[in-house]
Amino acid sequence: MTTGGPLIDNLGRVHNSLRISVTDRCNIRCFYCMPEENVRFRPRHELLSFEEITRLARVMAGLGVNKLRLTGGEPLVRAELPKLVSQLAAVPGIDEIALTTNGILLAEQARALKDAGLTRVNISLDAMTEETFRRISRRDGLDRVLAGIAAAKEVGFPRIRLNTVAIKGITEPEIPALAKFAKHEGMELRFIEFMPLDAEENWQHDQVLTGEEIRRSIETAIGPLEPASRPDPSQPAMDFNYQDGSGSVGFINPVSQPFCHDCNRLRVTAEGQLRNCLFSTVEWDARTLLRKNVGDEELAQLIRDCVRAKKPGHGIDSADFIRPQRAMYQIGG
Ligand code: SAM
Ligand code: SF4
Repeated sequence: MTTGGPLIDNLGRVHNSLRISVTDRCNIRCFYCMPEENVRFRPRHELLSFEEITRLARVMAGLGVNKLRLTGGEPLVRAELPKLVSQLAAVPGIDEIALTTNGILLAEQARALKDAGLTRVNISLDAMTEETFRRISRRDGLDRVLAGIAAAKEVGFPRIRLNTVAIKGITEPEIPALAKFAKHEGMELRFIEFMPLDAEENWQHDQVLTGEEIRRSIETAIGPLEPASRPDPSQPAMDFNYQDGSGSVGFINPVSQPFCHDCNRLRVTAEGQLRNCLFSTVEWDARTLLRKNVGDEELAQLIRDCVRAKKPGHGIDSADFIRPQRAMYQIGG
């Protein structure tokens, strides 16, 4: 296994978390992420195989990465995902294997994923009404998402998180019902500000519903909140507890309160390109090295080069901000 010091960038940020996209495909079409029609997906042979993903994870683990998150596209549309989870679970040094899913296929797969060694699940839930769900995802399926959430609870995943992308003019009426549902289920709810990563490039700054606005709305509708402690400074969310002890809610505010200074994350796209930021405009080609079957040291050097080139921040609000060419589903959120 590769040895060497941890993955520290020029600003001293230590990288111990890798987000692995396993597919660019999805079974719904959220407007903040994908085009509605005529999506061109990568052919199967371009995607990393499970063996290639596991090898990359093993080299990363040798460099101090101990947390993995599977994402996409929709990771549960990749065939035999539990098999990948069990391969990753066998990598020495990996403490956590998490999944971010839209939940549509979770009811069918939750048990197998848990048995394979998946440790955590984040489920996207943007609305509690079918009408708003359809407006956002341009497909039906809220009932299946809710069944997926129930199944995740049933099989015993700890600390299930529900993620809501907050969009001005759409999300506001959903907030009280989402907050009540999460409280009732004993799950953490996190609101994520809408970022300029939509495939149709319609993002406008004034569509961002900030975490601060949502917090005020929850306090009015549900009850007072107080800041929670922050055991892990690299966590992107600002968490709050209900003062009556009945649960917590978090806010991921990449637009109004960027958290780049504490970022510990790296990403690999489904076709094996390393990225040091969601907003990277440059990628490091791990797939070519994996397919040339180079030694661990050469792969480790590519990873280090990627980390060393990380910029201080995404700069969404700066005049020279350039959107990445890829949309969220092609990166892996
Ligand atoms: N398909 C899965 C899902 O939706 O949970 C996993 C992939 S999705 C790209 C990962 C996360 O990114 C989801 O929580 C999704 O809501 C979020 N996301 C997608 N596009 C976004 C955007 N433009 N701004 C903020 N969050 C976004
Ligand atoms: Fe699919 Fe997730 Fe993108 Fe929605 S956010 S279109 S569920 S990949």
